[in-house]
Amino acid sequence: MPLDAPDASTRSDPRDAPAASRTARLLIDGQFIESRSDRWRDIVNPATQAVVGRVPFATGDELDAAIGAAARAFPAWRNTPIATRMRIMLRMQALIRAQLKPIAALLSAEQGKTLADAEDDIVRGLEVVEHACSIGTLQMGEFVEDVAAGVDTYTLLQPLGVCAGITPFNFPAMIPLWMFPMAIACGNTFVLKPSEQDPLSTMALVELAVEAGVPPGVLNVVHGGREAVDTLCTDPRIRAVSFVGSTAVGRHVHALASQHGKRVQAMMGAKNHAVVMPDANREAALNALVGAAFGAAGQRCMATSVVVFVGAANAWLDDFVARARGLKIGPGDAPGSDLGPVISVAARERIEGLIAEGVAAGATLCLDGRGIAVPGFEHGNFIGPTVLSDVDCEMSVYRTEIFGPVAVVMSVDTLDDAIALINRNPMGNGVGIFTRSGATARRFQHEIDVGQVGINIPIPVPVPFFSFTGSRGSKLGDLGPYGKQAVQFYTQTKTVTSRWFDEPDDACAASANQAS
Ligand code: NAD
Repeated sequence: MPLDAPDASTRSDPRDAPAASRTARLLIDGQFIESRSDRWRDIVNPATQAVVGRVPFATGDELDAAIGAAARAFPAWRNTPIATRMRIMLRMQALIRAQLKPIAALLSAEQGKTLADAEDDIVRGLEVVEHACSIGTLQMGEFVEDVAAGVDTYTLLQPLGVCAGITPFNFPAMIPLWMFPMAIACGNTFVLKPSEQDPLSTMALVELAVEAGVPPGVLNVVHGGREAVDTLCTDPRIRAVSFVGSTAVGRHVHALASQHGKRVQAMMGAKNHAVVMPDANREAALNALVGAAFGAAGQRCMATSVVVFVGAANAWLDDFVARARGLKIGPGDAPGSDLGPVISVAARERIEGLIAEGVAAGATLCLDGRGIAVPGFEHGNFIGPTVLSDVDCEMSVYRTEIFGPVAVVMSVDTLDDAIALINRNPMGNGVGIFTRSGATARRFQHEIDVGQVGINIPIPVPVPFFSFTGSRGSKLGDLGPYGKQAVQFYTQTKTVTSRWFDEPDDACAASANQAS
């Protein structure tokens, strides 16, 4: 498609189709196609249980066709000028911006989060697309002249080939956009497997990528579960796999894809602590914590799930609970909702079970969100904000990622105690500290063994000029998503050492002998 002629024919308005008849299509070789699979799953609105659409489990032939299309498209795409790839990203960011509201509505309907959170989900991904518009400077190699007499060394950052992405349910816009824009901007081709729980908003974004001019085969999408994932991890045509999701699946993906010789990055589960020092700005800290613990129904990998009050700040527990109690629970598209439902009935039951385990183990239930009634939405997967205090490190509510609107509160005497507690936890995704003391914050950032630190910032997800840098048990593989690390992940560095002769043959031989 010529770059100056945007084509809206590929795009289905997210609001068009009657809900139950909407199906998540596959994208293979530039064609959006209905799967021939006989295995389908309903996509369900978590606030109502209404069926929003259906998603197939792609057949083996369809998986093969998608990977084959990506492999065939690679030679031409890697030779496509970098400025052309950049312009496609420029067009894509404009299309996403224009479609923000309808895609956010679709996302909220299939995922449950509030419209504001849904827009945020898209905007955080959009920022990665904007960053990919700079790929011309991001993918620059290095050059050193005269590493020996008349010899230069330089690096080329070359695309790998076919890359794959496997994404979770909790950010169906942001996380696919962490992956494929950077991968294809670098000159790779891509096969994406979105979450089977909420793939429709991901597909709306993929349609915009095609409309922006991504050529056939450069971006492909398959749907499914373990079979599709295992195919992507084992197919010899795939060179690299990006995974974001739970720890158990991430370990499986990392092991399987590594065994098959692929480069792998796996961003996994979390247990994020926030330390509240007694010198913190109380109002700002507690407001930030309530948003970070319960916003998006706690279904953020960077949610604050453990609040650690230090010393005199322990007296703020009641205030924290009161603010949590004041949050409004409702469907994502209802004005004023602070948090929506969790993704599924199974997720709600699991979270409620963990709360019960915490109580049975001796935690104090300061606020119980179980069994909450939302008038008109009695079948929704709602759990209200829940606060458990007097929690110790052995309890399952501390050892497990709850991934719901549940804050676990712990009490320590000193900053040293807080640092030791957090560094003992196996996860290392995000952490926060609230304090007015620069010296305290400086010591905390230096000593804490967690990949992303917020200082008076509750959810320290880096902007795309940096990279997402979760660590320890929250990550396998060295390089994180987006930013400079993503360029490294999606490229192979080739180092060239060169000498050019402009003398006659005899003189060349003499100078080569002298140099060696
Ligand atoms: P999940 O692991 O269940 O699913 C992630 C992907 O793996 C999906 O595409 C799914 O289809 C696939 N999958 C599921 N079970 C599989 C199996 N047995 N074998 C192979 N593939 C399988 O994760 P989720 O519930 O969708 O997402 C929530 C999790 O993701 C949380 O643990 C959260 O912390 C994590 N997460 C981490 C980050 C991060 O950057 N560290 C970001 C977002 C979410």
